[in-house]
Amino acid sequence: MDCAELEKLAADVVAQCVADADAGVAASYIPELARADPRTIGIAIAMPDGSMVSAGAFDTPFSLQSISSVFALTLGLGRIGDQLWARFGREPSGTAYNSIVQLEREGGIPRNPFINAGAIALADLNLSPHQPKEAIGEFIRFLRFLADDLSIFVDQNIARSELAASGRNRALAYFMDAFGNLRHGVDEVLGTYVHYCAAMLDCCQLARAGRFLMCGGRMPNGRVVSERRARRILALMLTCGMYDESGDFAFRAGIPAKSGISGGILAVVPGVASIAVRSPGLNGYGNSTLGVRALQLLTEQTGWSIFGSR
Ligand code: GLU
Repeated sequence: MDCAELEKLAADVVAQCVADADAGVAASYIPELARADPRTIGIAIAMPDGSMVSAGAFDTPFSLQSISSVFALTLGLGRIGDQLWARFGREPSGTAYNSIVQLEREGGIPRNPFINAGAIALADLNLSPHQPKEAIGEFIRFLRFLADDLSIFVDQNIARSELAASGRNRALAYFMDAFGNLRHGVDEVLGTYVHYCAAMLDCCQLARAGRFLMCGGRMPNGRVVSERRARRILALMLTCGMYDESGDFAFRAGIPAKSGISGGILAVVPGVASIAVRSPGLNGYGNSTLGVRALQLLTEQTGWSIFGSR
């Protein structure tokens, strides 16, 4: 499919999604996120040759929320390599992204790095050897490098809004701390975590930031991770990236993806496309209703499922 055809397909997919009756509702437990219009949808597709296709509200920045854990995991693996897995599981949770129940059964080890407990433990890991300010700075610099865009920033209002409403995440952090799976104070860790989540990117910037996963760990300006590591991050996205809807999403779209509660999804077709879609209305699992629909339509029309094209 050439760029012009893909451009038309992306516009059609957006139009079909906008016409869908039920877009779901925007997350309201973080007050700053509740203002978003659940029906807006934007999409951007970055290709290995550097071209970009986009449609809808592709240039509206949104907070990454737990899509940030893909990048936090990449940094963490760069920092301590596979030793990281002593502190994280690699299994889908089958429970809500902010659930605490498995933490008790599994000795304070998050089931995977992509649920909230995992994302909080990643912030803890990336704090060594930094102060929170430096850890946040490192994270934003990494995103700017990946997206090749210095304008990426943290929305302090969103970070503050989340911190003020973080009772549940605080509980997860204290629980992990009690099991010895945090190395820093809960306040420092949560302060860092909410800033990761409040990194603001639009669909084009996010699609560009995902290119290293599309290209076996490489960026046009150098290698980010080994091919093996990129493959493994994608495997985790496929099995754990869409909360407890990961199985159904693999069934529908058949591509690795990571979603965030702001309605964003980063999806990767290895060797072919890095896709960012965002629509704030969520389904019961916390995934973007129209975003999931858009990715299903897109993969069906393009044959991009990693399990086969027909
Ligand atoms: N910052 C959000 C929270 O902690 C992230 C949730 C998500 O995107 O999965 O609830």
